[in-house]
Amino acid sequence: ETIDVVQLLRSTFDKLCHQAEQNGLTLVGNWPEHPVSVEADSDRIAQVMINLVANAITYTPKGGEISAWMEEGDDHVTVHVKDTGIGIPPQDIDRLFERFYRVDKARHRRSGGTGLGLAIVKHILEAHHGTIQVQSEVGKGSDFAFTLPKKQPDPMFS
Ligand code: ATP
Ligand code: MG
Repeated sequence: ETIDVVQLLRSTFDKLCHQAEQNGLTLVGNWPEHPVSVEADSDRIAQVMINLVANAITYTPKGGEISAWMEEGDDHVTVHVKDTGIGIPPQDIDRLFERFYRVDKARHRRSGGTGLGLAIVKHILEAHHGTIQVQSEVGKGSDFAFTLPKKQPDPMFS
């Protein structure tokens, strides 16, 4: 199916604002003014956004900020979810997307996650011929950026 990825991501992000505000966080979205058509499964792309923003909320202490924005290329879009949270040590970055992998379980015992969120994100993006990259600094924050092609080579999407 062809979806307006701007509308999908904006509304998904906005729905998570309330939870973030209860956690004492500020959410800032910056989206294109015009619709951008992408061949994708809307429920699954919403799930990618939810998992990334949920992590940003979980791993950012009170007073922090979560920002999300989209950049449009000729044949793809890039979406960032950036936080001012605890960050990820460099040696853990490569393993983040493995099922059940969690950085230093002791540091966020309370969050009680299973370590599946990012494995699901990666699986969904791969099914869409997309990619994901992380930049992070311990104590400063993380920036997850994923790309999606506007057109899918696979006829199942069209
Ligand atoms: P689940 O999402 O299944 O509830 P989870 O959040 O622990 O559990 P993932 O979303 O797969 O699992 O994330 C894996 C690990 O990566 C997390 O446990 C956390 O250590 C680290 N991580 C993910 N996102 C961030 C972030 N924005 N800032 C800091 N660490 C993060
Ligand atoms: Mg998670």
